[in-house]
Amino acid sequence: MTVAIDFTNTNLMRKTLLLFSFLLASTCAFAQSDTSVFTKFNNFNNSVLNGGVKKADAQSQFKSIIGTIWSIEVVSNKAYLPHAQWVFPLKGYKSSAIGGTHGNGYFDKGYKFLDGNKHGAHPAHDIFITDRNQDCIDDKTQKPVDVLAVDDGWVIACNSQWENTSNMRGGKFIWIYHPTTKVFTYYAHNNQIFVKPGYHVNQGDKIAEVGRTGYNAYKKRSPTHLHFSAFKLVDGVPVPFNPYQQLLKAKTL
Ligand SMILES: [Zn+2]
Repeated sequence: MTVAIDFTNTNLMRKTLLLFSFLLASTCAFAQSDTSVFTKFNNFNNSVLNGGVKKADAQSQFKSIIGTIWSIEVVSNKAYLPHAQWVFPLKGYKSSAIGGTHGNGYFDKGYKFLDGNKHGAHPAHDIFITDRNQDCIDDKTQKPVDVLAVDDGWVIACNSQWENTSNMRGGKFIWIYHPTTKVFTYYAHNNQIFVKPGYHVNQGDKIAEVGRTGYNAYKKRSPTHLHFSAFKLVDGVPVPFNPYQQLLKAKTL
């Protein structure tokens, strides 16, 4: 009787060990491919900005990055419940800081993601901070203004370098993919960014500080602001939608 039990236990232990080493091996394999797919996507996004990317390439790149994020979520059991509302993307600010009247700063007619840096329209809301002398320090708090992730998600592309001689309009920007809602958000003109492709962020996490980077944002005539956009994939390519209602309802941190 005792022998039989010992035998079963050994067998069970073997099985557990086998399963454990299999899981360990597959987790390592995931870790490696994750890093490379984020780097690859970031490089791809830079190619889009420089122009000349084909639609089929974009479709396969987006499919690949979304597939990877999905597999990480399954493996790590990060089954996010959707948040009822966004966090406002500027700390201490609310929807009254959005430029234009009733959100009319947003217009997407003629915008195409694949047009890169030379795209038309303004599929975004500019959210202004109080900064009369344009030093990127809030006149009210005497501190930089934090840019916050509106929802849980993954940083899929960003640019942490920008020279004021550059003609790139986004400056130091961040792209985040939010798997729960399948929405992409874009944050441009930052002074400094604190995330990299492959980082997971929680809703309300500080990702950057508001700045004046970008071809037009750097010019004196432009008041200091965050350029904020939201996109959904249509036929495998990001298409902007107006996030004004979400911004109106967003909670201020
Ligand atoms: Zn803008």
